Amino acid sequence: MDIRKVYDAVWWLGHQVLPLRCLVCADPGNEGLDLCAACYAELPWNDHACPLCALPLPPDEPVAACGACLRQPPRQMGAAATFIYAPPIDRLVLRFKFHQDLAAGRLLSQLMLQAVPEFALDPLMPMPLHRRRLRERGYDQARELARPLARELGVPLWSGLCRSRATVAQSTLDAEARRQNLRGAFAVTATPPSRLTLVDDVMTTGATLDAAMRALKRSGMEQATLWVCARAP
Ligand SMILES: [Zn+2]
Ligand SMILES: [Zn+2]
Repeated sequence: MDIRKVYDAVWWLGHQVLPLRCLVCADPGNEGLDLCAACYAELPWNDHACPLCALPLPPDEPVAACGACLRQPPRQMGAAATFIYAPPIDRLVLRFKFHQDLAAGRLLSQLMLQAVPEFALDPLMPMPLHRRRLRERGYDQARELARPLARELGVPLWSGLCRSRATVAQSTLDAEARRQNLRGAFAVTATPPSRLTLVDDVMTTGATLDAAMRALKRSGMEQATLWVCARAP
């Protein structure tokens, strides 16, 4: 059974009779969101960041490419992260990713739509999950985020990239082991459009996104941009 369809139906029915509720503190929601005004005011928007890798910049520095991007320009043409990976976004992401909390995912998508990247959006490609993880979890979190974005913005969703093997969680590895872990991790199953915007929940070092772009470029993609929900500094 498709948990997403069931969830959509339950959510729709629930919102016909139930008021919106803040997913952070359980107060009444506000402005059509499952988030109250007080929690909304505390959100860690990432609106002062490197335009190439979305790394938050110190408040007194002008918005420009960060030192790392100047030393070694990244594969992507631009990157935007709606939030810094900090409370309460970190908790919402974890609930969405590991605790079947699809309402948290819906809220995160709605918030991403409030800060659409300044670069032109191309077809959106959610970062794929390995089949085995998808079976365990029942849904693919990047796809759940990207689907409403594509629908609201009127851009296509492209899904011609897959995980050719399950990788170990990147967070458990050092830099060299991360590179090894990602070698041959992706396979391209259809000719990609010349430009894509890759969508994911969290960007940490960007190594996984980079490996995906490398595979896509080998298959003919020319330019990529990145749009993630949260950037871990
Ligand atoms: Zn609240
Ligand atoms: Zn940068």
